[in-house]
Amino acid sequence: MYKRSKIAIIGAGMVGSATAFSLLQSGVALELLLIDKNKDRAEGEAMDLSHGVPLAYLVNVRSGGYEDLPGADIVIITAGAAQNEGETRLDLVHKNTAIMKDIVPQIVAQVPDSILIVVTNPVDVLTYAALQISEFPDSRVMGSGTVLDTSRLRHALSLQAEIDTRNIHAYVLGEHGDTEFVAWSRAHVAGTPLDEYFEDDLEKPLTREIKEELARQVRDAAYDVIEKKGATYYAVALALNRICRAILRGERSILTVSTSVQGIYGVEDVCLSIPCVVGRGGIERKIPFHLDDEEVKNWQKSASAMAEFTQNLRLD
Ligand code: NAD
Repeated sequence: MYKRSKIAIIGAGMVGSATAFSLLQSGVALELLLIDKNKDRAEGEAMDLSHGVPLAYLVNVRSGGYEDLPGADIVIITAGAAQNEGETRLDLVHKNTAIMKDIVPQIVAQVPDSILIVVTNPVDVLTYAALQISEFPDSRVMGSGTVLDTSRLRHALSLQAEIDTRNIHAYVLGEHGDTEFVAWSRAHVAGTPLDEYFEDDLEKPLTREIKEELARQVRDAAYDVIEKKGATYYAVALALNRICRAILRGERSILTVSTSVQGIYGVEDVCLSIPCVVGRGGIERKIPFHLDDEEVKNWQKSASAMAEFTQNLRLD
């Protein structure tokens, strides 16, 4: 029998509700379930969204509890505290690890075959926690990672190069946070290395200073948006829509999700973002990637920053 696609979102705050809105507009799933410890919030968001169903796609949007999870293909976790102005993502680690310890066992009990997507920050540390707590295979636990940061980078580069963002292949790797970095040595436009593209076609070199400034803008984007409007949620909602689409439609898209990266360029047992093939089985392949010497150092710095937290996580 045809299986209805269903996505559950735990945490119906700004990110959770914006994600539901984005999923409703794309019609990628036939059922959306919102769960929040604030039941009224989840119910209000589900009502508001469902009132637009006749104008969008036929999607059953509702709120509920963990007992309503069965049938969910994907469970997105956005529950937890968000950064306040001046707070780093890593400042949230203790509060949000406790929330993961509450939520993940309840998901596992109801939908042991689902795919988990962690969004709550610090996303790499909490992806690691979700992987350990759920004991799911690592193909079925991923963090939204640097899918958002990569989108921010491609947007910034497209403005610089004056071409469509979709023709820019450049990735932000490592932590979704202060130690993230751009893999400039791998970046290209239609097969032409980025540096050559700027020099030969545009006659304006992409200098080291420009690259550093673009990377800084991408890295600090969340701080800048939070300072201006208090939170970030639209772009991450679109990133989640993109990941869910790749999974439910079996697209095998290459996305920089956060995953266990043990052994890659000598790093320990941590989760970080690397390019992965994302499809019906979740993470179907981790793509081998090559970095230059400076990028390897950045990668290892990101891994050490994460290891400091994951080594001290108390998950039992
Ligand atoms: P928010 O405060 O608007 O919403 C959080 C929601 O979680 C609230 O509705 C709250 O009631 C709910 N919640 C808290 N504890 C819960 C529990 N135990 N069970 C169920 N629900 C619970 O925050 P937000 O702006 O939506 O951000 C959510 C998280 O997403 C934050 O950690 C934020 O830093 C993170 N975030 C991640 C990215 C990314 O790219 N990974 C981007 C933006 C925000």
